[in-house]
Amino acid sequence: MTLGTASSSPSPVESAIALLGAARRIVVLSGAGLSRASGIPTYRDADGLWMSQNALQFSHAEDLQRDPKGFTRFWARRLDTVEAAQPNPGHTALALLQRLRPATRLITQNVDGLLSIAGGLDVLELHGSLRRWRCDHCGNRRGPWPFHRCMRCASRARPDVVMFGEMLNHGVLHDAQMAAQESDLFMVVGSTAVVYPAAELPQLAMSRGARLITLNMEPLPHLDAAASVVLRGAAEVLLPQLLAGLQA
Ligand SMILES: [Zn+2]
Repeated sequence: MTLGTASSSPSPVESAIALLGAARRIVVLSGAGLSRASGIPTYRDADGLWMSQNALQFSHAEDLQRDPKGFTRFWARRLDTVEAAQPNPGHTALALLQRLRPATRLITQNVDGLLSIAGGLDVLELHGSLRRWRCDHCGNRRGPWPFHRCMRCASRARPDVVMFGEMLNHGVLHDAQMAAQESDLFMVVGSTAVVYPAAELPQLAMSRGARLITLNMEPLPHLDAAASVVLRGAAEVLLPQLLAGLQA
């Protein structure tokens, strides 16, 4: 501490850097807040694509049968948005964290694939990815998907995301739970972590003794009280600061 500094207690960012530096197994659970700076609309944005009438019409897998053309058009447009987006400094910082600490696991609720594009490895995508399509009719998961149709059976394909009313991919969920249990530091980034299974993962980690860091624009009343460090702000600003501190 330099002379004249009012307080000798470390800032939240400094405390988080110290925790990251001491951790052996880090898990980062990210949500919509991580991708906001990349221009990906979130579920909660009132003017976001998700809350539009279209989104409500096409968020169940059965909607493909009800209105095949509308369904394909809606999801193809969503994919266009995602494909036009670039990773932001938050995504890049998390990929770098994994380089620095190879035991780090990245879990995300986002379906935009931006963590992988930023260089993240083995990203656990809880809700799947808009960048993959699949055919529910014959089970085909391999493209190409001309006009979003299956090459094998010519049925209409659907994005490989978890839609409302559908189960999560069991293997991905299991890997995420294992990673949480084995972690000694769990960080929640840009996620309210109130929806299952995202709500369960930090609790699972803490029940095994992991410390918790929350990083979010808004308070997370159910998590902040249990957190060792609470970081309030934008992921694309704070995550690069953590990385810089860790590399220093
Ligand atoms: Zn098929």
